[in-house]
Amino acid sequence: MPDTQSAEARAGAPNKERANSLARLSNEHFDIVVIGGGIAGACTAWDAAMRGLKVALIDRADFGGGTSAQSLKVLHGGIRYLQHLDIVRLRESCAERAAFLRMAPHLTRPLSFALPTFGVGMRGKLPLRAAFQLLNVFTAGRNRGIANVAQHIPAPFILSKREFLEKFPAFDAPDLTGAGVFFDGQMLNPARIVLSIVRSAQTASAVALNYCSADGLLLRDGRVEGVIAKDALSGNSIELRARIVANLSGPYAPAFLQQAKACATLNVPLSRDMAIVINRKLLPGMGIGIQTKYKDPDAWLSRGNRHLFMAPWRDYTLIGVHSRVYEGDPFKLTVTEEEIQGFVDEVREACPALGVSRGDVVVVNAGLLPFGENDPSAKDLSFGKRSVLVDHGASGGPEGLISGMSVRWTMGRLLGEKATDLALRKLQLGARACRTRATPVHGGDFQDREELMRAIMKHTGPATPASAVTHLADTFGTHWSEVLKMNDSTTLLPDGATLAAEVRYAARSEMAVTLADIVLRRLDLGTGSTMSSQLLSACAQIAGEELGWSAQRQSAEIARIAQSYPFANPVSQQFVSA
Ligand SMILES: Cc1cc2nc3c(=O)[nH]c(=O)nc-3n(C[C@H](O)[C@H](O)[C@H](O)COP(=O)(O)OP(=O)(O)OC[C@H]3O[C@@H](n4cnc5c(N)ncnc54)[C@H](O)[C@@H]3O)c2cc1C
Repeated sequence: MPDTQSAEARAGAPNKERANSLARLSNEHFDIVVIGGGIAGACTAWDAAMRGLKVALIDRADFGGGTSAQSLKVLHGGIRYLQHLDIVRLRESCAERAAFLRMAPHLTRPLSFALPTFGVGMRGKLPLRAAFQLLNVFTAGRNRGIANVAQHIPAPFILSKREFLEKFPAFDAPDLTGAGVFFDGQMLNPARIVLSIVRSAQTASAVALNYCSADGLLLRDGRVEGVIAKDALSGNSIELRARIVANLSGPYAPAFLQQAKACATLNVPLSRDMAIVINRKLLPGMGIGIQTKYKDPDAWLSRGNRHLFMAPWRDYTLIGVHSRVYEGDPFKLTVTEEEIQGFVDEVREACPALGVSRGDVVVVNAGLLPFGENDPSAKDLSFGKRSVLVDHGASGGPEGLISGMSVRWTMGRLLGEKATDLALRKLQLGARACRTRATPVHGGDFQDREELMRAIMKHTGPATPASAVTHLADTFGTHWSEVLKMNDSTTLLPDGATLAAEVRYAARSEMAVTLADIVLRRLDLGTGSTMSSQLLSACAQIAGEELGWSAQRQSAEIARIAQSYPFANPVSQQFVSA
């Protein structure tokens, strides 16, 4: 069915929806308000709503736009914890990887990584083979409940030197003997997974609003009664009433407690992690772990020094992670030119034959996460081990206030489950089973991706290129047909791989407020490389039609994106409407 709404009616629709959410947030009483729509907050909101609580979710910027948009895109299955002999964490991580592969099949894939082996000692094949055998045993149930076999994690295996060099000719070394290959998950677009979870929470009746910050707490007689929130678009404050306040604003959680004068603190050391995006394909369809000069002080079974991981992603290569102790203001996080150059030098030193240079780095992902106890000048760093969840009422703070910080993206769902368990206990509602582990997210309710692609191709016909069909399937999953109901369902954007209708749908139906929300997080068009001015203009024009933007506002939105490379901290940016 063609889209017959007038431009004026269309531009009003998202605004009306936002006004409606704001009215509900002001007028209704909630069981729980979740502050922060990163992976942890989104999962908490979804989980709590599915367990029957009345939920509000707010984020000061865009959903999934904080640390959760800044990752290496790996769903960790926990192989690193084998080195630390931490089998509990290994199993937990493996179960969480499986959960996301099951919940979001359009936005995740298994991805293999090679670990080169050298000589006959600890870095040789024998210890790695033994470690893989243990991994296989401890993660025997890694595919339990994943009906879609394309999402299964295969067993690890060993490659001969010849097999390894066929794939990775640039990684030859005098004492190289081959490699071990293990599998993890890859997120195609982490911010979109978060958005899909927020939409699932809405389907389960949560009220969710982005660009709405929690600025203070409503307190009475030592217990919370809700939050004072501010709509960034109008500047208006609202009182949001709730019995539980879940401060899941990740690395910003301590700052909120301080701002709200909550008589509660969260003392968690933070690391500033950085991963770079190289604007070319350096790898076959397999990632690789390469050794750096730094040690892992927590490793019991050490193969040598800490690994850097390189992962193929679309037409690019992701390399991470560079960590350092961070003690500054989380909203003022930046990455300096020297730091980017220093990291590139470390990569060049670890693999000179790849010829990576500063000019190859187009995008830098950086953010804060819980760390181990480290001296600020330490080089061999101890990483954060567990997510943090605090019941402030139990330690002298306001009753009904809880805070959480996820140690990894992969562990965000589990933190949401634990935060919801805690909220239920505090509300004395008794145990109710968590269902997020096994429920598909918005758009993820399919078993066979090939079948999904065939259905889209049947609808679009042969004129739509395969790349556009792939983008549609891997972005919207089973909701592709809603996108194709928009005008421009056959018009391609200047990149030749994205339909104009996708921009229209994101602007109209996906709570986008800025152009960056659409192109970086909803559609993932500019997170691997800078976008051409033609592509940006085309997107701004369509978004402008949907959201009622003037030509001046369109130019301002384009300028903000163009200026944000290689690194921008979206959470620190104030909403600006021209
Ligand atoms: C470079 C890098 C690479 C990484 N790679 C990986 C990886 O490959 N795999 C992995 O598993 N993990 C990875 N991580 C870790 C992972 O990204 C984080 O642990 C995870 O995203 C944290 O999620 P979160 O929801 O706790 O925080 P966030 O995503 O930061 O969410 C917090 C949200 O709270 C909002 N907020 C803040 N203050 C307020 C307020 N006052 N009111 C309302 N909202 C507020 C923010 O806008 C933000 O959206 C990486 C991290 C970095 C930095």
